[in-house]
Amino acid sequence: MPDDWQRALAIVAHPDDLEYGCAAAIAGWTGAGKQVAYLLATRGEAGIDTLEPGKAGPLREQEQRASAAVVGVDVVEFLDHADGVIQYGTRLRADLAAAIRRHRPELVITLNHHDTWGGTAWNTPDHRDLGRAVLDAAGDAGNRWIFPGEGGEPWNGVRWVAVAASPQATHAVDVTDTLELGVRSLVEHRAYIEALTDQDPEEYARELLTGFATQSAERFGGRPAVTFEVFAR
Ligand SMILES: [Zn+2]
Repeated sequence: MPDDWQRALAIVAHPDDLEYGCAAAIAGWTGAGKQVAYLLATRGEAGIDTLEPGKAGPLREQEQRASAAVVGVDVVEFLDHADGVIQYGTRLRADLAAAIRRHRPELVITLNHHDTWGGTAWNTPDHRDLGRAVLDAAGDAGNRWIFPGEGGEPWNGVRWVAVAASPQATHAVDVTDTLELGVRSLVEHRAYIEALTDQDPEEYARELLTGFATQSAERFGGRPAVTFEVFAR
């Protein structure tokens, strides 16, 4: 995984998207003194069946901020697109390009934009639309004639877009030392997890993330890993 960068912006659809694995890699980067900021397209307000959106949104925002803090991220922004019905289009691309211009990251991180998670495990429309828009906005941000004035000066400095949880992973980060921080980061989504499963949140998070990291280890030198599909620019 490229390491010669200082600023990253992680852009995902929902609270918890970064915590299902990626946060362990982010913990390593912030621990090494790099800056990582989060941008969430929605507040995840449609993500808890038993809680109406007006209550779920603020709760999930709070959980996301706590999750981020565990892995050394204190800049967490929300765009207020509608959870579940994010639409790929110029409005979304403009919002993302503006954020990239403001944050000036060298590395942009997002979540799997492919149709599936691998095999026949179908991805969700928000992840597909948002992920594709992030890949596009990394280019839009650098063109002064596209979305002029949005977010300030053009920023053509994104060198890579790294897609977490892609079924076509090309790169990996060794998370031997940070997997536990990743687990604690996911546990912060307590209300969400409690609505999802009867399992103890900590047990749930540890089992799941250890499973992912061990699975990835088979391809990447036997060490627990978080994987990315890296698009160089
Ligand atoms: Zn999601």
